Amino acid sequence: MTTNFQNSRFVFLLYCVATILLLGAQGTSSAAADQICDPCTKLNVDVIPPPATKPMPLDSVKDRDPELFKQIQAKVTDPRYTGELGNITISTHDKDGRVNGCVFLQNVPYWESGPAAQALVDVNRELAKRGKKLEADPLNGAGRTLGQEESIAWRNSGIHAKVGKSNHGFGNAIDFKLDPDPNAKQQVWDDPFVNATLHAHGWRQGDTWGPIKNDEHHWSFVGPGPAVDGPPPSP
Ligand SMILES: [Zn+2]
Repeated sequence: MTTNFQNSRFVFLLYCVATILLLGAQGTSSAAADQICDPCTKLNVDVIPPPATKPMPLDSVKDRDPELFKQIQAKVTDPRYTGELGNITISTHDKDGRVNGCVFLQNVPYWESGPAAQALVDVNRELAKRGKKLEADPLNGAGRTLGQEESIAWRNSGIHAKVGKSNHGFGNAIDFKLDPDPNAKQQVWDDPFVNATLHAHGWRQGDTWGPIKNDEHHWSFVGPGPAVDGPPPSP
């Protein structure tokens, strides 16, 4: 089955190819030769419209995008959509498997592992009662494929785990969207009610050892059940 999401991918790949051909025609193709599309150059977010049939929160990835499911099923048995769209970078490889570039996809439905996605939806349901909301960072903010992890490492942008080890790859991490004001004193999750609601639903800041310096918007899912901060209890 071909989904609109796959159509978007295809349209985007065509766009990349056209860009490279154009650069080549202008005689500036040497850099383009080893980068499919410069991932550091963000495109306008509305170039690719969101999928017409955007998945509902908790729709199964397996049903909506079998190709994506194939890429993540070794680590995530039942990935579900979170109800949000965002942007992602995905890597490309040379014939030896080395990462040699990445492509940038927009308005991609975000996913997490089933229990983590459910917990996020539950958190936002609680927050909505008080007019509050948590959103994923619009760039690689939710579950990631191995290809996405590779491209993030390739770009070497931001703080990231070793490829294959990230909680994002297991669909158990989320990077929350930051306040657009760079001088903001507080982020949404600093609000005591928001913070307590996240913990009550199994989310805590950082990974195993708690908050990560300069990566405070990274939260991981340790539920089902409430999350406590600090090192994990010994087995
Ligand atoms: Zn993260």
